[in-house]
Amino acid sequence: MGGAPSVTMRVAVVGGGWAGLSAAVTAVGLGHDVRLFESAAVLGGRARSVHAPALETDIDNGQHILLGAYTATLALMRDLGLDPARRFVRLPLSVRSADGTLDLRAPPGLPAPLHVAAGLLAARGLSWKEKLSALRAMTVLRRSGWKTPRGATVQEWLSLTLQPPRLRALLWAPLCIATLNTPVEQACAQLFAHVLRDSLGASRRGVSDMLIPRTTLSELWPARVEELARSGAFGQGPHGASSAAAALEIHRSTTIRRLRYTGTGPSMREETGGEGGLCAGMPAGAQRLVLDDRPEAYDAVLLCGNTPSTSRLLATLPAQPGGDAFLDDLRAFEHAPIATLTLELERSFVLPSPMLLLHEDRHRGHFGQWLFQGQDAGRRLLHVVVSDADALLQWERSSAVAGMVEQLREQLRGHAMPAVLQHALIVEKRATFLAVPDLRRPGNRTPWPGVWVAGDWTDTGYPAVLEGAVRSGRDAARAMHASFSGASLGS
Ligand SMILES: Cc1cc2nc3c(=O)[nH]c(=O)nc-3n(C[C@H](O)[C@H](O)[C@H](O)COP(=O)(O)OP(=O)(O)OC[C@H]3O[C@@H](n4cnc5c(N)ncnc54)[C@H](O)[C@@H]3O)c2cc1C
Repeated sequence: MGGAPSVTMRVAVVGGGWAGLSAAVTAVGLGHDVRLFESAAVLGGRARSVHAPALETDIDNGQHILLGAYTATLALMRDLGLDPARRFVRLPLSVRSADGTLDLRAPPGLPAPLHVAAGLLAARGLSWKEKLSALRAMTVLRRSGWKTPRGATVQEWLSLTLQPPRLRALLWAPLCIATLNTPVEQACAQLFAHVLRDSLGASRRGVSDMLIPRTTLSELWPARVEELARSGAFGQGPHGASSAAAALEIHRSTTIRRLRYTGTGPSMREETGGEGGLCAGMPAGAQRLVLDDRPEAYDAVLLCGNTPSTSRLLATLPAQPGGDAFLDDLRAFEHAPIATLTLELERSFVLPSPMLLLHEDRHRGHFGQWLFQGQDAGRRLLHVVVSDADALLQWERSSAVAGMVEQLREQLRGHAMPAVLQHALIVEKRATFLAVPDLRRPGNRTPWPGVWVAGDWTDTGYPAVLEGAVRSGRDAARAMHASFSGASLGS
């Protein structure tokens, strides 16, 4: 991380989700003086811990899984001095249903991508025709360089590759909903192909592993950023660059509502480069930015909220050529909810696998799609995940909870699930953007001088996932740095 900075800029990061934190850590690593502002009382954004009074403990706002392919997130954790091997349960790729009717596991010992092919061929619960169809679809995708027809939905791609209806219902639709939070009829085939490339189609075994956090999401690494910021460790030693002025200050419970330019010229302090206090790429007399009525001005602002928040803030700045089109693109994003039901059981209960597929039957209130073993020491927590959860929201909460508990009892029959003592149902209404085809996702640059954007919704090539957020934040900070210092962007 880092590299010798030519100047120290004063940088504001708005938003303390994974994109904002990644941007802040990257910017301070590049030698800048960074302030991060977060509306909420806790960092993490859509991947954060919350207190659940009924359970008398902290839980996540939703179960999150990562993939071995999430290299930027794992690298960031290592840079922060954290060991991913200790912080995640690492599971070889598998799709096993709670009722045992589907069991697809990559056998040990075989190299990728043969391990997935062998797993598919040996899978329990699929006919030979279905297995060969799935393999054919993966082969076609791989040969095409993971490209799907332009503008196609997942449904159209499944038809094009002649996937049988039962295979769609058993395998493809649950995978699509789980990874894109968008039903197959609407979901973008190209983004789904990217997900398949990193999972079923991975070219190295570890890349397709599923990583389940052992700690709450806030403890996973955001807490470490706060700890380092508080102790002033950024800017010194392995976490920071060579600039003594590099620092990160975090302001929680602070919502930024307005941006404006102030024309007082650049503030950067000359460090190892630059001419007369200016560096290459920085126009003389460039405007600086002020947030609300705060006294300080910033050389750069990185907006790391979701699309509604980012477009609202950009709209407070004076119009710029291309600005309206940029805002229109942001306003075109739609969002979908994810619900997570956490159950506290009377006694310890270990699932046959830490993650199990559930068969959904919305008419019966069986909304659950995936079931996760909680990471609590007593093994008494279970998490039921419902993506694309609009249908659940039409139900009265207690009936929906009762429906899902009944679903677990039915599908886990033979495993004697203990009585449920307490529960917490968390619904994130804007959990992710709807991953539809032809969505225009902007890059990190904006038409407004000095303003960059980051978030899982930018043009990362991923659906709305943690890795996309981390990459986006990192790349926004690098682009900001490069534009001021004339440095070339790293990979
Ligand atoms: C229930 C659920 C389950 C999920 N499961 C997975 C999963 O299994 N795997 C996976 O990879 N991804 C998953 N995701 C998606 C993942 O959480 C997101 O992609 C990621 O957290 C987005 O990070 P972000 O930083 O881009 O945005 P956010 O997390 O939304 O962060 C934006 C932050 O900016 C703050 N903010 C906004 N406006 C302002 C302002 N004006 N002033 C100050 N602060 C502001 C917000 O409060 C927020 O904290 C899931 C999401 C949810 C909700």
